[in-house]
Amino acid sequence: MSDVFLLGLLGLLVGSFLNVVIHRLPKMMEMRWAAECAELHRTHEGPADETVVEPAKFNLMVPRSRCPHCGHQIRWFENIPVISYLVLRGACSHCSAPISPRYPLVELVCGSLFAWCGWSWGMTWEALAWCFFSASVLALACIDWDTTLLPDDITLPLLWSGLCAAGLGFINTTLPHALWGAVAGYMSLWLVFWAFKLTTGKEGMGYGDFKLFAAFGAWFGWQALIPIILMASVIGAVVGIAIKFMGQLREGGYVPFGPFLAIAALTAMIFGPSSILAVIGL
Ligand SMILES: [Zn+2]
Repeated sequence: MSDVFLLGLLGLLVGSFLNVVIHRLPKMMEMRWAAECAELHRTHEGPADETVVEPAKFNLMVPRSRCPHCGHQIRWFENIPVISYLVLRGACSHCSAPISPRYPLVELVCGSLFAWCGWSWGMTWEALAWCFFSASVLALACIDWDTTLLPDDITLPLLWSGLCAAGLGFINTTLPHALWGAVAGYMSLWLVFWAFKLTTGKEGMGYGDFKLFAAFGAWFGWQALIPIILMASVIGAVVGIAIKFMGQLREGGYVPFGPFLAIAALTAMIFGPSSILAVIGL
């Protein structure tokens, strides 16, 4: 029981950190791209402009979190997972601008997933491995939903950590199953991508989706790929149509696929990949 409580508590704190990752990682990527573009531009044009302004430090640790509305620096007691949101009644203490309910929601979901891992596996390497998996997948789902990006900074470590966890025997997936899962996960979506592109001239998904699916192959083994992709496609289609009918489709009509892959993978983690097939009668 104390395992559930301890990991649940850890999950709330990790969820709080994920909010920072979800918010800042896409901005950090944009800044990196801008810097690379500027660098490329300089090497082509020659060293004409030497007065390059060094950008202010911006990463996951620096600067401290501020209210996006009034710039009020958030103090430690205003940053306690879920509790601070309730105490502040969902508004900034300085300017009363509303705080998005997604912050406590991400913390609650992360806390619940961690608690579930503690309940299933106790305080073991297996539980910690799946906690790491849950947190990474949760962050990717939110970032993809917000920006339609699945950062390599998360998908690639998730992929090779799955192979490591299988190789070290931390998870109930053998190394050959994990290895072929990673290969089949990447290859299958890569093939779908090119088949779709060659027949319709459109890009149906991004390279991030291949990497994420490869990571799921590594964590669950190749056998789980079909149930995961089936479930993700069904939910994706339903949500996509719903968004279209509500007229909420964003520019380019693109619905990110990562969040649905994430929901399917977390379902597979909790109930087992075969339970997904059982639901649809296979
Ligand atoms: Zn404020």
